[in-house]
Amino acid sequence: MTHLFPNYKREPIDLVRGFGNYVEDQTGKEYLDFTSGIGVNSLGHQHPKLIRALEKQMHLIWHTSNLYSSKLQEDVAKKLANNKNYLAFFCNSGTEANEAAIKLARKATGRSKIISFQQSFHGRTYGALSATGQEALHEGFAPILPDFQYVPFNEIGPLKKLVDQDTAAVMIELIQGEGGVLPAEVSFVQQVAELCKEQGTLLIVDEIQTGIGRTGNLYAYEGYGIEPDIFTLAKALGNGIPVGAMLGKKELKDAFGPGSHGTTFGGNKLALRVAVAVLDIINDPNFLDKVKQKGDYALKSLSSLKDSSDKVLDVRGQGLMIGVQLKDQDTLNATVTNLQKKGLLVLKAGNNTLRLLPPLTIEQDELEKGIGMIKVELLDNK
Ligand SMILES: *Cc1c(COP(=O)(O)O)cnc(C)c1O
Repeated sequence: MTHLFPNYKREPIDLVRGFGNYVEDQTGKEYLDFTSGIGVNSLGHQHPKLIRALEKQMHLIWHTSNLYSSKLQEDVAKKLANNKNYLAFFCNSGTEANEAAIKLARKATGRSKIISFQQSFHGRTYGALSATGQEALHEGFAPILPDFQYVPFNEIGPLKKLVDQDTAAVMIELIQGEGGVLPAEVSFVQQVAELCKEQGTLLIVDEIQTGIGRTGNLYAYEGYGIEPDIFTLAKALGNGIPVGAMLGKKELKDAFGPGSHGTTFGGNKLALRVAVAVLDIINDPNFLDKVKQKGDYALKSLSSLKDSSDKVLDVRGQGLMIGVQLKDQDTLNATVTNLQKKGLLVLKAGNNTLRLLPPLTIEQDELEKGIGMIKVELLDNK
């Protein structure tokens, strides 16, 4: 008997403990973790520096309201701006960060149209859901918000036709995560940024999955030679303590004046104390270089499957965000189940894609071990 809504299709294992890049289920079985709780535990489980940070804050104060100043929020905001011209708003999840982005874009421009991309994923609350370009996720929830439109990803033509002086924002994931680990092309993104500039439209980059070091840069946008007007963060920012953030250019500040937007828990002291420690570890050139190196190794190693396995159609990604597109849904389901039995946790994404989001702290030997298991599984043509 379950007391839970059946809105998730759950595996029968219950992960009750994690250590480093491994997790353990209720029976004591160990798994190498190539999921990081869907890109959340980027520093693995029980990282000693994060435990120390959380413990220290636990004995000071847990929560204040946003009626009071917060040096901690200032510190995290400064770290997130990373020497650029951004202000931060803190919330508790990815979808809330995108709600803030959509509200800020509409208010700052006085325009209503928001354009996003087919197969995109931006969250489940009404604004973020309305920006999500997947009809299946809208089903039964009508009416979604007006003035949201979707265009094909990586094609500038259809976007050009829609963006005009009524367009508040274009919203994009630089690597579509849930959609199937689909990277946006550099020239496409640069044209999108240019088009937005011409029309006075704001460019919102959803970095909820790609941000905080996942691609080997602090933010994926750094690899595209653009600077978004607004970008959003959540998942890895608190390494498992819920926290989200919306960053926007300083010029937008008047649209979010006192009382315009807010949330009780946003900027919670436990979450932000952990965020400081997360950013101090990840936003370090040596750490990010290692993510790039491990990512390059993984992508290269898995790419050989394109020729050697008839189950594999494509291998793509950046840093430690990697997709292995398989030939059909049954193959994907069987692969995930078999790997789980053998002690490796992996994720699914759209387009029959096996998605790998290991902790950024994964060791080279652990990476080789996991990739070895995936290769054996996909080369097995039984
Ligand atoms: C996970 C995700 C979200 C939603 O975040 P929640 O914290 O689940 O609300 C939004 N956008 C992208 C790109 C994501 O990967």
